[in-house]
Amino acid sequence: MTDIRLWDLIEFGESGHIVLLGFPHDEGVLLNGGRAGARLGPEKFRFWLKRFGALHNPEKDIDLSSLAVTDAGDVPPEVPLKEAHARLTEKVGSILSQGGIPFIIGGGNDQSHPNASALLQHRKGKTVGVINIDAHLDVRPLKDGCAHSGSPFRLLLEDERFDGENFIEFAAQGSQCSKEHAEYVRGKKGRILWLDEVQHHGRVIDSFEASIGNLAWSSSSLFVSFDLDSVAASDAPGVSCPGILGLSAEDAVSIAYRSGGHPSVSLFDLSEYNPVIEDERTGRLASAMFYYFCLGVASRTEKKK
Ligand code: MN
Repeated sequence: MTDIRLWDLIEFGESGHIVLLGFPHDEGVLLNGGRAGARLGPEKFRFWLKRFGALHNPEKDIDLSSLAVTDAGDVPPEVPLKEAHARLTEKVGSILSQGGIPFIIGGGNDQSHPNASALLQHRKGKTVGVINIDAHLDVRPLKDGCAHSGSPFRLLLEDERFDGENFIEFAAQGSQCSKEHAEYVRGKKGRILWLDEVQHHGRVIDSFEASIGNLAWSSSSLFVSFDLDSVAASDAPGVSCPGILGLSAEDAVSIAYRSGGHPSVSLFDLSEYNPVIEDERTGRLASAMFYYFCLGVASRTEKKK
């Protein structure tokens, strides 16, 4: 067979260089006033992934067969949200402790604090850097004590294990963020790079590289968190809150590739894919991001040779 795809390599399990994990929950999106459907994201993501991604990419001359890519399945869908978050942290922690890079496909963006929490626990005492690629700042207060899709980075900035100086909000859109929330991020010493700055002052990917380079300078380990609503609706309509403005599909894929290739990146999450709103275009983009992330990780080992 000459037409071998990434999916053909993936085995079930949680030990590998890259470990896929699904978070099939959207209660956090509903709590934040968004539309239901992201709970079906992991299942649909795998559907598209099965159809995409040459194992040996001749354009980049990268052969993925040198990597162990595994699928750890999903966090249980039937448990209450709070328990799902706890299970997620536990699972991500277990993957990290076995030396794997977790790639978590949501589900709502509320997955990001449980994911960050696992990395903070795993790297106890060491500095962790976080970049959130998102149209929104996601620093809203909890609702009746519950975490939701608008609150993950408030929880992170309030987390005493984390220093806000190592946090960047990337490609946020001023039309969709409140002044109060921008001030909150800055008050915690986080940085905001607005969409206009990353889009119209050179190439998006150069801004991204500079950002993760900057974080890597002070942090031993990086978490790249990507909300698909940072991508313009023309390329990613299948999210709860599509934006007319935003990054391009090419930017998203490049960000995934460079994240995979950066030696300090130990965790990546992809949020808000909602196949009820739109299935194919957004699903193909999400699966392409995973594929390019894997190519990036494979390029790390190639560089070491
Ligand atoms: Mn978000």
